[in-house]
Amino acid sequence: MLMNNSFIPISQPTITKNEIDFVTKAMQSGWVSSLGEFLDIFEAKFASFVGTKYAVSTTNGTTALHLALVSEGIKSGDEVILPDFTFVATANAVQYTGATAVLVDIEENTLCIDPEKVESAITDKTKAIIPVHIYGHPANMVEINRIAKKYGLLVVEDAAEAHGAEINGKKVGSMGKCGAFSFYGNKIITTGEGGMITTDDKPLYDRLRHLRDHAMSNEKRYWHDQIGFNYRMTNLQAALGVAQLDRIKEILEKKRKIFLTYKNLLSKNARIKLNFEAEWARNVFWMVCLEFEDFTEVKRDELMKQLKNRGVDSRPYFYPISDLPMYPKTNTPVAHRVFGKGINIPSYFDLDNASIEYVCKTVTSVLDNI
Ligand SMILES: *Cc1c(COP(=O)(O)O)cnc(C)c1O
Repeated sequence: MLMNNSFIPISQPTITKNEIDFVTKAMQSGWVSSLGEFLDIFEAKFASFVGTKYAVSTTNGTTALHLALVSEGIKSGDEVILPDFTFVATANAVQYTGATAVLVDIEENTLCIDPEKVESAITDKTKAIIPVHIYGHPANMVEINRIAKKYGLLVVEDAAEAHGAEINGKKVGSMGKCGAFSFYGNKIITTGEGGMITTDDKPLYDRLRHLRDHAMSNEKRYWHDQIGFNYRMTNLQAALGVAQLDRIKEILEKKRKIFLTYKNLLSKNARIKLNFEAEWARNVFWMVCLEFEDFTEVKRDELMKQLKNRGVDSRPYFYPISDLPMYPKTNTPVAHRVFGKGINIPSYFDLDNASIEYVCKTVTSVLDNI
């Protein structure tokens, strides 16, 4: 056990006095719902951070994806291509529209959708591609955009895990028609629950805002011209978001430093593979990933159990979406080979060096007996 008998969690938010002050200010203003100054500030600052003209806040990352797809007219009968290795929300958001999620294999190193496999999954019904920047590594947007352009497809980036990740100096969320972000409690920055859509497209921006607010007319109150949604973020959440966004540079620097410390301590162990970073990409290392080449699910679960007994939290890689009961079985050999070999380990902002060293020592010694 740890000397102080404590448990090192996989994730925890970083909250400073500024976060508390801003949320308090929002509460004192009386604007606790979805009107208020922090909403406008958060959207403007987030657009500027990503490098897009517009940003539209939502209730969470899942509704950000759904709203983006609906606002682009994705509907029943359409097919939308996404990676088989992602959090389930990416696929579910497609299904909510009535369209069909088409699950495609990933690259072994980036764990992101494989552009070559995208092209062979395109049919007459394909309308969109959702690349996911998984665990903080950007998908190959250059290739994906090339394919999308060739076939006239919409690109919605799922950037829920990758605030600040870059390709050639351009941030994720600014390379598709739009990008969807999440501010869940374990994401790079948090608003408790929350989401954002970023875009340069004014007509899309107008449709997003319209559908987010019950599709109510700007001119005629309580006149609704289609079935809209209530996907509005609150001013309280936005206040937290503004305080978090003010610190994002510091947060991203710390995440990189944590990854490099892990890498330094673990990469000499030949059995352990850490996060990849392509030479064209800037990874934000949302979650530190460890892969064990000789592992299957059984050994992985044994490792996680023994880590937990020694006070170290971890979580398994996502299951392939196509293994979940509500999705069709799909032939995605890389996703199926990789998922059972990987875990995420603690990498939150306030993690100190002593804890990182303890995690590394524990992983290394437990591994010796598995
Ligand atoms: C977290 C996440 C989402 C959904 O975000 P919520 O805010 O939890 O709804 C979508 N896609 C990916 C890849 C995620 O990691």
